[in-house]
Amino acid sequence: MTTLRNLPSVEQLLQTETTAHLIARFGRPLTLDALRKTLDDIRARFKSGALAELPSTDSILAQSESTLSAWTAQTLHPVINATGVILHTNLGRAPLSDATIHAMDIVSRGYSNLEFDLETGKRGSRLIHAEALLQKLTGAESALVVNNCASAVLLTLSALVANRKRVVIARSQLVEIGGGFRVPDVMKQSGAKLVEVGTTNKIRLSDYQFAFEEPTALVMRAHRSNFKIIGFTEEPDFKDIVDAAHQAGVPVIDDLGSGALYDTTKYGFSHEPTVQESLQAGADVILFSGDKLLGGPQAGIIIGKKILLDKIKKHPLARAVRADKSCLAGISATLSHYLKDEAEREIPILKMMSLTLKQLQGRAEAWRVELGQGSVISGESTVGGGSLPGESIPTFLLELRVKSAEKFLRALRKNNPPIIARTENDKVLLDPRTVLPEQEGALLVGLKNLLRA
Ligand SMILES: *Cc1c(COP(=O)(O)O)cnc(C)c1O
Repeated sequence: MTTLRNLPSVEQLLQTETTAHLIARFGRPLTLDALRKTLDDIRARFKSGALAELPSTDSILAQSESTLSAWTAQTLHPVINATGVILHTNLGRAPLSDATIHAMDIVSRGYSNLEFDLETGKRGSRLIHAEALLQKLTGAESALVVNNCASAVLLTLSALVANRKRVVIARSQLVEIGGGFRVPDVMKQSGAKLVEVGTTNKIRLSDYQFAFEEPTALVMRAHRSNFKIIGFTEEPDFKDIVDAAHQAGVPVIDDLGSGALYDTTKYGFSHEPTVQESLQAGADVILFSGDKLLGGPQAGIIIGKKILLDKIKKHPLARAVRADKSCLAGISATLSHYLKDEAEREIPILKMMSLTLKQLQGRAEAWRVELGQGSVISGESTVGGGSLPGESIPTFLLELRVKSAEKFLRALRKNNPPIIARTENDKVLLDPRTVLPEQEGALLVGLKNLLRA
């Protein structure tokens, strides 16, 4: 009769070759921990009667190995984005250019002059690193890079408004950007007194002018990044709002969100307000994301008048939301692409947007031939990531007919690397636009295996 005394001890398991391999892979303390846990589990299940027989040594070691793999698994890893959503916030937004990755890599591997002035040999400032590039690129007097655009909004408002001073904003701009980030809440958090003007659909210049009759710290514009207001609507030109504000001595903060540096109509989308336009209209401080239409790493970029930026840079929150060295290196590298007029050649999201229909059709067709099934149909790709709401550009898709599209999508997500696709009318759709060329091989292997199964 089997009794628990037949169960091998940790010491016995340690004598095996398999355990030696586990120790080499996972380290001794963790391996010991896993062996003990496996033996404890077996004992408990055996005592409770859930286990009739004691498992073999091989099986105990296999269980220990799965435990070790589960304990040490990386939860964050690459996926293949076949959804056609170019800036998928849930899939990490913008893939980076080679030069950007290289710049982030070299400053991460070793020491850098992050806050060290090589001229004087004394302490320097991390704030200078992307500043000159941003000044040159936009013509702004001053610039600052922080953790993300949400923190740029919080920091800017906190630094420029205090003690319940009034901040004027159009009612139609009291938006929720996503992930619970609500413009009115952030404004309140900063200590500002929110002054809503206009109605949900209509706002006139006189609404602003009336609000400026009382002492006002700022007027803010928040870009409606993820929705559209259509129908019976009215909104003054941004330039006219800026002029009215300046007449009243009120600075203007423009939260652009996506903040393109180029004209999105070039790629077949409607016009997204650009950073340059906002500056030209006279905005005093402009905020935008590093990883939306700019196509760089996560960052919040603040540019504008020196006198206001100086206040922002000195505020205690600036330290709390500062950008790290790898972000500063990466943003600088991405910005250089724009300066050198090579953005479309180097920045992955711009490459994706500028793919021609012929190229997309060619890739979808090549996938179809390789898989020996499916059909190539026309469809739409979108930008996503809180940019250009409801907008899409034409693409070609590979459409696969499978027994259950939902089940197939689930299986694709379990592939290594996971493949993220979409379905329509119970068919699986794959958009070549967002699949990086170097991931194509892995995509086809994954699809072939699943289609065969
Ligand atoms: C996306 C967005 C933000 C937040 O930007 P993150 O970089 O994601 O923090 C803020 N404001 C607007 C208008 C946005 O669209």
